[in-house]
Amino acid sequence: MALMGQMMSAPLLISSIIKHAARYYGSTEIVSRRTEGDLHRYTYRDCELRARKVAQALGALGVQQGERVGTLAWNGYRHLEVYYGVSGMGAVCHTINPRLFPEQIAYIVNHAEDGYVFFDLTFLPLVEGVAPHCPNVKGWVAMTDRAHMPAESKVPLLCYEELVDAQDGNYEWPLFDENLASSLCYTSGTTGNPKGALYSHRSTVLHSYASALPDALGCSAHDVILPVVPMFHVNAWGLPYSVPLVGAKLVFPGAKLDGASLYELFEQEKVTFSAGVPTVWLGLLQYVQSNNLEFSTFRRTVIGGSAAPPAMIRALEALDVEVIHAWGMTEMSPLGTSCKLLAKHDALSDADRHKIQEKQGRVIYGVDMKIVDGEGKELPWDGKAFGDLMVRGPWIIDRYYRNDSNPLVDGWFPTGDVATIDEDGFMQITDRSKDVIKSGGEWISSIDIENVAAAHPAVHMAACISAYHPKWDERPLLVVVKKPGAEVTREELLQFFEGKVAKWWIPDDVAFVTEIPLTATGKMQKLKLREQFKDYKLPAA
Ligand code: AMP
Repeated sequence: MALMGQMMSAPLLISSIIKHAARYYGSTEIVSRRTEGDLHRYTYRDCELRARKVAQALGALGVQQGERVGTLAWNGYRHLEVYYGVSGMGAVCHTINPRLFPEQIAYIVNHAEDGYVFFDLTFLPLVEGVAPHCPNVKGWVAMTDRAHMPAESKVPLLCYEELVDAQDGNYEWPLFDENLASSLCYTSGTTGNPKGALYSHRSTVLHSYASALPDALGCSAHDVILPVVPMFHVNAWGLPYSVPLVGAKLVFPGAKLDGASLYELFEQEKVTFSAGVPTVWLGLLQYVQSNNLEFSTFRRTVIGGSAAPPAMIRALEALDVEVIHAWGMTEMSPLGTSCKLLAKHDALSDADRHKIQEKQGRVIYGVDMKIVDGEGKELPWDGKAFGDLMVRGPWIIDRYYRNDSNPLVDGWFPTGDVATIDEDGFMQITDRSKDVIKSGGEWISSIDIENVAAAHPAVHMAACISAYHPKWDERPLLVVVKKPGAEVTREELLQFFEGKVAKWWIPDDVAFVTEIPLTATGKMQKLKLREQFKDYKLPAA
């Protein structure tokens, strides 16, 4: 006969995280740069009390469990209160990326059927443009106090601080099934309409536990953590949950993400740990290097969202900042792998260690992965064979929100990434499957080409895309933004590839541009670049 364990049954709820932070790290600070222009400070104890008031206020507005509540907001304490207030009361916190086109935002708000939308003042013009197309939204809440409320607005607004102040905080976080929906993020979807990933309390809490582990993000109560990655991009990679879970001090940069503003905040608040996409680190590195600065406390950062160029990993290392290269996606909450070395790597030379750090790393417990060929047959883990990367686990989607098609293949989620896995389980992304360059039937990794180009001293940003070739079908074209004041010719750049990649991988041409378009999440927008260069004639073609 089966024998059941005899342990307490406590549902894994998001509210338990902020309750824990308030009780055990009550005086630990949360510091935020506000859209009002000043720096705001309070503690986890204050945050939890105000999150309870947000939950009460939502109840007073008639928000029901399961109802979606949207946010259009930067990283800040009020956004954190909304995260916990909304999910904690059993509604669904739907973070919306304000960098999307207004039509996409309206589509997402309507598809999610958001009942209310909370927004930072910066986004008032966006709200005014979108609101007429979102007839089902019952209220737009400006996240500020009465004194800062806009004098006039084309949309009737509610005032966040008034809603909060009207409540007494006398509220018990409700207990419910841990499998209920907690939050919702839409993929930035380069083709077709964005699709929603609907997380549960259980998936979020498990992801928070696992992502805080030493070989994942390695967060601790010792740290001061500044998430640069926005709370509107896959829940800032889970940091709004994992940081309170470990009791670290939190620092929120608000809308100011330029190098100078970030550096000032890093130094002033003694930040030890951060996380963001490569384009953010480009800006910060450029500022620090051109002003001959150093970081006095900043020692570790996670880079993900797109491949961290080796030159960036080394530049940060020279500033005493360890880079943890990580990979994941919206559909994975998002963390899948992180690149922490093994004990056996301790004796490696710097060059050999760098080779491993360029990989996206090992899975964290909870995620299972494999690579398969075109027929779905699993490929060997030899670091050479590359195939479609498939994943499964308790914080990976089973299906998309309000979408009938089944995205899974034999119970695995196809990531759309092409990767290798080595003998030690270190995974390396070769490419997004639609970005791979197929030259004469052989594959060229656009990421590898970009990584080489990014190491050239005159290159600020480089994207490699395919251009039409009559004989090879596709050949690599390198699109480059030069550093301010730097000079380099096409020939010099192509020369730079000699000996660094196979000869036939060397791009056929270089196009210099003043800007590479970025997606709403700060990734190079290759689809747009490919459109821009669709009639490009390669010199040899
Ligand atoms: P998103 O859902 O917007 O976070 O995008 C997920 C996709 O970003 C993944 O499927 C990868 O193609 C890409 N990505 C994320 N992290 C990395 C990384 N470290 N290196 C290369 N690509 C990455």
